[in-house]
Amino acid sequence: MGDVIAITCPHCGGQVERASNEYFAKCPYCGVEIAFNEIREEAQVGAYRERLDVLEQSESTDREKRLTMQRWVRIRNISFAAMNLTNFLAFVLVGCDTMGGIDKWVPAGALLMLVTLAGFLAAVPLLAVNYPGYNALYKKEEKFGKVRMFFVLGGVGIGLFLLSAIAAYIVLSLLFG
Ligand SMILES: [Zn+2]
Repeated sequence: MGDVIAITCPHCGGQVERASNEYFAKCPYCGVEIAFNEIREEAQVGAYRERLDVLEQSESTDREKRLTMQRWVRIRNISFAAMNLTNFLAFVLVGCDTMGGIDKWVPAGALLMLVTLAGFLAAVPLLAVNYPGYNALYKKEEKFGKVRMFFVLGGVGIGLFLLSAIAAYIVLSLLFG
Protein backbone atom coordinates (compact mmCIF):
# COMPACT_ATOMS: atom_id res chain seq x y z
CA MET A 1 0.00 0.00 0.00
CA GLY A 2 1.36 3.35 -1.01
CA ASP A 3 0.94 6.73 0.60
CA VAL A 4 -2.24 8.68 0.16
CA ILE A 5 -1.86 11.85 -1.83
CA ALA A 6 -4.46 14.60 -1.98
CA ILE A 7 -5.08 15.91 -5.49
CA THR A 8 -7.35 18.63 -6.72
CA CYS A 9 -10.09 17.52 -9.08
CA PRO A 10 -9.37 19.23 -12.41
CA HIS A 11 -13.10 19.45 -13.06
CA CYS A 12 -14.66 20.82 -9.87
CA GLY A 13 -11.65 21.66 -7.69
CA GLY A 14 -12.65 19.23 -4.95
CA GLN A 15 -9.98 17.43 -2.90
CA VAL A 16 -9.65 13.82 -4.01
CA GLU A 17 -7.44 11.30 -2.24
CA ARG A 18 -5.32 9.03 -4.35
CA ALA A 19 -3.01 6.21 -3.26
CA SER A 20 0.47 6.85 -4.67
CA ASN A 21 0.35 3.56 -6.61
CA GLU A 22 -3.04 4.23 -8.16
CA TYR A 23 -3.37 6.17 -11.36
CA PHE A 24 -7.13 6.61 -11.54
CA ALA A 25 -9.81 7.97 -9.27
CA LYS A 26 -13.40 9.04 -9.42
CA CYS A 27 -14.12 12.44 -7.96
CA PRO A 28 -16.60 11.99 -5.06
CA TYR A 29 -17.97 15.50 -5.59
CA CYS A 30 -18.63 15.77 -9.32
CA GLY A 31 -18.21 12.15 -10.35
CA VAL A 32 -15.71 12.62 -13.20
CA GLU A 33 -12.99 10.07 -13.77
CA ILE A 34 -9.57 11.48 -13.05
CA ALA A 35 -6.38 10.06 -14.52
CA PHE A 36 -3.20 11.05 -12.77
CA ASN A 37 -0.29 11.73 -15.07
CA GLU A 38 2.73 10.81 -12.95
CA ILE A 39 5.20 12.20 -15.48
CA ARG A 40 3.69 15.67 -15.61
CA GLU A 41 2.46 15.27 -12.05
CA GLU A 42 -0.98 16.52 -12.77
CA ALA A 43 -4.50 15.18 -12.70
CA GLN A 44 -6.46 15.01 -15.93
CA VAL A 45 -10.15 14.55 -16.53
CA GLY A 46 -10.86 11.26 -18.26
CA ALA A 47 -8.05 9.97 -20.50
CA TYR A 48 -8.55 6.73 -18.61
CA ARG A 49 -7.98 4.26 -21.43
CA GLU A 50 -5.18 6.32 -22.89
CA ARG A 51 -3.26 6.40 -19.60
CA LEU A 52 -3.78 2.67 -19.13
CA ASP A 53 -2.40 1.96 -22.61
CA VAL A 54 0.67 4.10 -22.01
CA LEU A 55 1.36 2.37 -18.71
CA GLU A 56 0.89 -1.12 -20.16
CA GLN A 57 3.07 -0.30 -23.13
CA SER A 58 5.94 1.03 -21.04
CA GLU A 59 5.66 -2.00 -18.73
CA SER A 60 5.95 -4.48 -21.59
CA THR A 61 8.78 -2.54 -23.27
CA ASP A 62 10.59 -2.51 -19.96
CA ARG A 63 10.05 -6.23 -19.47
CA GLU A 64 11.33 -6.98 -22.97
CA LYS A 65 14.44 -4.89 -22.46
CA ARG A 66 15.14 -6.51 -19.12
CA LEU A 67 14.91 -9.95 -20.77
CA THR A 68 17.26 -8.86 -23.58
CA MET A 69 19.71 -7.64 -20.96
CA GLN A 70 19.49 -10.89 -19.00
CA ARG A 71 20.10 -12.91 -22.16
CA TRP A 72 23.14 -10.77 -23.00
CA VAL A 73 24.59 -11.22 -19.50
CA ARG A 74 24.10 -15.00 -19.76
CA ILE A 75 25.88 -15.17 -23.14
CA ARG A 76 28.70 -12.97 -21.82
CA ASN A 77 29.18 -15.19 -18.76
CA ILE A 78 29.16 -18.40 -20.80
CA SER A 79 31.64 -17.11 -23.38
CA PHE A 80 33.99 -15.68 -20.75
CA ALA A 81 33.82 -18.90 -18.74
CA ALA A 82 34.56 -20.96 -21.87
CA MET A 83 37.52 -18.73 -22.85
CA ASN A 84 39.00 -18.93 -19.38
CA LEU A 85 38.61 -22.69 -19.31
CA THR A 86 40.55 -23.08 -22.60
CA ASN A 87 43.10 -20.52 -21.36
CA PHE A 88 43.53 -22.45 -18.11
CA LEU A 89 43.98 -25.76 -19.97
CA ALA A 90 46.38 -24.14 -22.44
CA PHE A 91 48.63 -22.90 -19.64
CA VAL A 92 48.47 -26.26 -17.86
CA LEU A 93 49.48 -28.10 -21.06
CA VAL A 94 52.29 -25.69 -21.94
CA GLY A 95 53.42 -25.52 -18.32
CA CYS A 96 53.74 -29.30 -18.16
CA ASP A 97 56.82 -28.87 -20.35
CA THR A 98 58.84 -26.69 -17.99
CA MET A 99 57.38 -27.93 -14.72
CA GLY A 100 56.66 -31.58 -15.46
CA GLY A 101 59.00 -32.35 -18.34
CA ILE A 102 56.10 -33.39 -20.61
CA ASP A 103 57.00 -31.49 -23.78
CA LYS A 104 54.68 -33.43 -26.12
CA TRP A 105 51.69 -31.51 -24.67
CA VAL A 106 53.10 -28.12 -25.70
CA PRO A 107 51.62 -28.06 -29.26
CA ALA A 108 48.14 -28.83 -27.88
CA GLY A 109 48.58 -26.03 -25.35
CA ALA A 110 49.76 -23.59 -28.01
CA LEU A 111 46.74 -24.48 -30.16
CA LEU A 112 44.40 -23.89 -27.22
CA MET A 113 46.04 -20.51 -26.64
CA LEU A 114 45.33 -19.57 -30.26
CA VAL A 115 41.73 -20.77 -29.88
CA THR A 116 41.38 -18.66 -26.73
CA LEU A 117 42.87 -15.61 -28.43
CA ALA A 118 40.61 -16.01 -31.49
CA GLY A 119 37.60 -16.40 -29.22
CA PHE A 120 38.55 -13.30 -27.26
CA LEU A 121 39.13 -11.19 -30.38
CA ALA A 122 35.74 -12.25 -31.75
CA ALA A 123 33.75 -12.18 -28.51
CA VAL A 124 34.67 -8.71 -27.24
CA PRO A 125 33.50 -6.70 -30.29
CA LEU A 126 30.47 -8.99 -30.81
CA LEU A 127 29.37 -8.66 -27.20
CA ALA A 128 29.97 -4.89 -27.24
CA VAL A 129 27.95 -4.39 -30.44
CA ASN A 130 25.07 -6.45 -29.06
CA TYR A 131 25.17 -4.86 -25.60
CA PRO A 132 21.59 -3.66 -24.95
CA GLY A 133 22.83 -0.98 -22.55
CA TYR A 134 19.48 -0.81 -20.83
CA ASN A 135 19.38 0.84 -17.45
CA ALA A 136 16.44 -0.85 -15.72
CA LEU A 137 16.57 1.60 -12.82
CA TYR A 138 16.04 4.68 -14.98
CA LYS A 139 14.28 2.75 -17.76
CA LYS A 140 16.43 4.23 -20.47
CA GLU A 141 19.29 3.38 -22.80
CA GLU A 142 22.84 4.15 -21.75
CA LYS A 143 24.69 6.69 -23.84
CA PHE A 144 27.93 5.37 -25.39
CA GLY A 145 27.15 2.06 -23.65
CA LYS A 146 28.52 -0.08 -26.49
CA VAL A 147 31.83 1.81 -26.77
CA ARG A 148 32.39 1.72 -23.03
CA MET A 149 31.42 -1.96 -22.89
CA PHE A 150 34.05 -2.75 -25.56
CA PHE A 151 36.82 -1.44 -23.31
CA VAL A 152 35.33 -2.90 -20.13
CA LEU A 153 35.06 -6.38 -21.69
CA GLY A 154 38.58 -6.10 -23.10
CA GLY A 155 40.05 -5.05 -19.76
CA VAL A 156 38.09 -7.52 -17.67
CA GLY A 157 38.85 -10.28 -20.18
CA ILE A 158 42.61 -9.71 -19.97
CA GLY A 159 42.39 -9.61 -16.17
CA LEU A 160 40.50 -12.92 -16.11
CA PHE A 161 43.07 -14.51 -18.46
CA LEU A 162 45.81 -13.51 -16.04
CA LEU A 163 43.86 -15.11 -13.20
CA SER A 164 43.23 -18.35 -15.10
CA ALA A 165 46.92 -18.47 -16.09
CA ILE A 166 47.89 -18.00 -12.43
CA ALA A 167 45.38 -20.73 -11.48
CA ALA A 168 47.08 -23.04 -14.00
CA TYR A 169 50.48 -22.23 -12.48
CA ILE A 170 49.17 -23.01 -8.98
CA VAL A 171 47.73 -26.34 -10.13
CA LEU A 172 51.02 -27.25 -11.83
CA SER A 173 52.98 -26.31 -8.69
CA LEU A 174 50.76 -28.62 -6.67
CA LEU A 175 51.20 -31.43 -9.21
CA PHE A 176 54.92 -31.15 -9.81
CA GLY A 177 56.22 -28.82 -7.12
ZN1 LIG B 1 -14.64 16.83 -9.11
